[in-house]
Amino acid sequence: MSVIDEVLAANEIYSRNHELRKLTPRPERKLAVLTCMDTRLSIRTLGLKTGDAHIIRNAGGIVTEDTLRSLVVSHYLLGTEEIMVINHTDCGLMHTSEQDLRARIQNRTGTDAVGFDSFYTFQNVEENVRSQLQKLRAHPSIPKNVAIRGFVYDVTTGRLREIKDAASSDKRDSDQVGH
Ligand SMILES: [Zn+2]
Repeated sequence: MSVIDEVLAANEIYSRNHELRKLTPRPERKLAVLTCMDTRLSIRTLGLKTGDAHIIRNAGGIVTEDTLRSLVVSHYLLGTEEIMVINHTDCGLMHTSEQDLRARIQNRTGTDAVGFDSFYTFQNVEENVRSQLQKLRAHPSIPKNVAIRGFVYDVTTGRLREIKDAASSDKRDSDQVGH
């Protein structure tokens, strides 16, 4: 049995009660989270329940054209008012380089990795968060009254640490989440 078959069997059991039926498509806590697809990060890590927030994930937690599209849909159509960007320690994209990844793909497939402008590899996780914040703040379709804050999730301690940038508002005094 493949894992996908196992998932289908589990879904069959879930659907008998389908307790998430009562949720609406609008995130209850009006939050959108952009983060990495890393296995160690989850709504549980953030104290969220299914239905509380939009969770937008990609390798790295990178603001790409498609991320922006999702965030714009999230805000304008589904009412989210705060955006949280979370990158994390020990990210796979920190342990490689654009050249290395391209070489791996070429070695396996015998052909160049086409169709990717960038894999968004990075060295410094804090700088990477700041660069995502900058892309969001600079985008004309994201209104200024949408709160945008950036964080590094430490996979060892389980804690979020806020990364301030020049545009971080003064009213956001706390450096720690949960205080
Ligand atoms: Zn990652």
